[in-house]
Amino acid sequence: MSACGGSAPTPVTAGKPCGSGNVVSGRPLHIVSTVAPITSIIANIAGGSGAVITGLVPEGTNSHTFEPPPSAAKFLEESDVVFINGLVLEEPTKDLAQANIKSGAEVCEIATEFMPEDEWIYDFSFPKAGGKPNPHLWTDPAMAKEYARVVRDTLVKRNPENASVFTANFTAFAAKVDALDTAMKSATATIPQADRKLLTYHDAYAYFARHYNWTVVGAIQPSSFEEPTPKEIANLITQVKKEKVKAVFGSEVFPSPVLEQIGKETKAKYIDVLRDDDLLGNPGSPEHSWMGLMRFDFVTMVEALGGDASVLKALDVSDVVKDSAVYPQ
Ligand SMILES: [Zn+2]
Repeated sequence: MSACGGSAPTPVTAGKPCGSGNVVSGRPLHIVSTVAPITSIIANIAGGSGAVITGLVPEGTNSHTFEPPPSAAKFLEESDVVFINGLVLEEPTKDLAQANIKSGAEVCEIATEFMPEDEWIYDFSFPKAGGKPNPHLWTDPAMAKEYARVVRDTLVKRNPENASVFTANFTAFAAKVDALDTAMKSATATIPQADRKLLTYHDAYAYFARHYNWTVVGAIQPSSFEEPTPKEIANLITQVKKEKVKAVFGSEVFPSPVLEQIGKETKAKYIDVLRDDDLLGNPGSPEHSWMGLMRFDFVTMVEALGGDASVLKALDVSDVVKDSAVYPQ
């Protein structure tokens, strides 16, 4: 907890708006991204333009504590746009980017660009005193569409000769995101309101829950990203029993024995496969995408809470254009 230590949160200083770098023409745009779901959204918008897209955060690693290796500096030096999530998720990467990007290049903090600070959520693993808001906006489809819109608008400004490619890709992608959103609303309707309760290990569904009118009753992982204390576990067990939480959800990236213990002591189902930024399968496989990831998580949550996920399962979650981004593993 020393990171919180009672010191004042670092104020978030607004940078230049996304898209304010130099126009690039006659050569491919070089794009660097951080976590895989954001890389996937960018690949859906930029695909077919010849843009070179490189993700920096290896899949399956903890993006919240990720420190870019020195080798990342090379990609950052060559980049025209560095897209990061923002909301204070990737400060070491942002610092390295700002120190290494060339003149005319830019760092675009996607979520910070579209979400006003008074709508940021501070909650269980992201308390206000720590100064880091919950950064997981991409698990809410309505907001994922905003990521795609910011990417489109940035790329249109920076590489206008491919504007029609970015615009057409966005239209196709937005339609698929809307279909996912509609399917998730239908699936939600099959779960009684009282059962729409999420207790997750990793606190990645705050904006999702607000959008679908679910309740996040808690997150097991403390803000330090260490294991919870025995007292914290005991409190969670009491809460699960009191609120009659039907299932507790663990994370692929953060395996924890605590979840199993809570499941055993409360008789809630425990499911340890949710993912917030580790895509399914390997790069190139059909579900290795933001949409494949979200559909998997939504089906998992709906079925564990006793709902019907068939409309979600029927969706086509393939990319709108071939994804040729580099995803480090
Ligand atoms: Zn996360």
